[in-house]
Amino acid sequence: MGLKTGREYIDSLRAWGLEAQVMGQAVRDLPGHPLISPSLRAVAATYDCAHDEATRALFRVVSPLADQEVNRFTHMHGSPEELISKVKMLRHCGGLTGCCFQRCAGMDAANAVFNTTFEIDRERGTEYHRRFRDFWAQVQRADQVAAGCMTDPKGDRSKRPTEQADLDLFLRVVERKSDGVIVRGAKLHQTGMVNSHQIIVLPTMSLRQGEEDFAVCFGLPTNAPGVHFIYGRQASDTRKLEGDGLDVGNPVFGGQEVMTVFDDVFVPQERIFLNGEVEFCGRLVERFAAYHRQSYGGCKVGVGDVLIGATALIARMNGVDRASHVRDKIVEMIHLNETLFACGLAAAALGRATPAGGCEADLLLANVCKLNVTRFPYEIARLATDVAGGLLGTMPPARALDDPVTGPYIRKYLAAAEGVEVVDRMKVLRLIENLVAGAGSVAYLIESVHGAGPPQAQRIMIGRQAGLEAKMARVRRLLKLS
Ligand code: SF4
Repeated sequence: MGLKTGREYIDSLRAWGLEAQVMGQAVRDLPGHPLISPSLRAVAATYDCAHDEATRALFRVVSPLADQEVNRFTHMHGSPEELISKVKMLRHCGGLTGCCFQRCAGMDAANAVFNTTFEIDRERGTEYHRRFRDFWAQVQRADQVAAGCMTDPKGDRSKRPTEQADLDLFLRVVERKSDGVIVRGAKLHQTGMVNSHQIIVLPTMSLRQGEEDFAVCFGLPTNAPGVHFIYGRQASDTRKLEGDGLDVGNPVFGGQEVMTVFDDVFVPQERIFLNGEVEFCGRLVERFAAYHRQSYGGCKVGVGDVLIGATALIARMNGVDRASHVRDKIVEMIHLNETLFACGLAAAALGRATPAGGCEADLLLANVCKLNVTRFPYEIARLATDVAGGLLGTMPPARALDDPVTGPYIRKYLAAAEGVEVVDRMKVLRLIENLVAGAGSVAYLIESVHGAGPPQAQRIMIGRQAGLEAKMARVRRLLKLS
């Protein structure tokens, strides 16, 4: 089967027949729902890029697993060069959509599971890696989307999983059978979940002896019995229901976050990739985090490109693009954005071969990349807000343009540089608002802090990976200390 187009992907998802609770109501036609369709189009764009003459070489790669050409979003990266191509691909998608295009958590989770299951099998004589390869080759051949599923609710954060008042606050195995396991629990913040065909569930953190029931990793179709989806809200989301594209900010694309509930779900043996081996959970979680933290050096940079472009455009529309302080602020935005890209590329360039034949990003630089991502988009957003002006937070709604009384006033008093259409100026301002304070800020700002782990998680990893003892030893040698 050839690679799907965006349209074929949407058709395949419609045939998948998922149902979700959206704004308190059961919705069956998810692809047709106006709150969801912008996020679906963003995923569809990742399919169309594999057909676009300008990008198909970047988006297509031959996979040894499926023994055929696949979309790079389903690829197991085998070299630093392939990791670099991943970052470039993500930047392209971020710049194209101006939002989260949702496919990377699954790609990053798959790469982490691919490499870690190989090591579990080698050390424990299990057959998880063979199972995962079979599962993933099917995903590749069908050109499907998989959602990476990691964050448990965690309940009382001061307590371990076994100490929680409700043990289901960490997803767990509640029954072991001869042909599989039954799992119960929930996963939060699931990016792109109802736009996905498959789920890859990982443990949420390192685990200890006695916590074996929580040490479970598996793959499942999203339409498996007992899996329930509760669609998350985003700031200004109901603007998508208003019909006209102007107030929504990004009229074509958007992101998606879902709470996923596993209500006694059966996972067949062939889809279990870790079952009780607590000592491998930390490795699996760290690997996923490193892949995903490095990914942010691509996707957030692409969205940053959109925000920088919109800021430069509004400066021109306002007639201030030649002011030296405005030029300086835009250069600062570019500097911050390219620093993130450089971190993503550097983590890829120093990637290491894994025993499974994959390639993992440099752990230290991937964490430095993500820690910068928790800060720089906020500064870029602050500068965009500064340059755009206060109208960003006070502009009248698009509907007022059609009112016979208010419409002429708006066109008269929101006029700016000569030759600029008022509605065009409003569109650019709404796009900036979308990214710094509206629905798009979920992916560009909040997710930049908490996605792939909050800043403290990166600080811990940076502290561990920095080789402080070696640095001190170097000073000792230099100073000839005892
Ligand atoms: Fe991909 Fe970025 Fe969205 Fe994560 S936040 S899924 S890396 S686009």
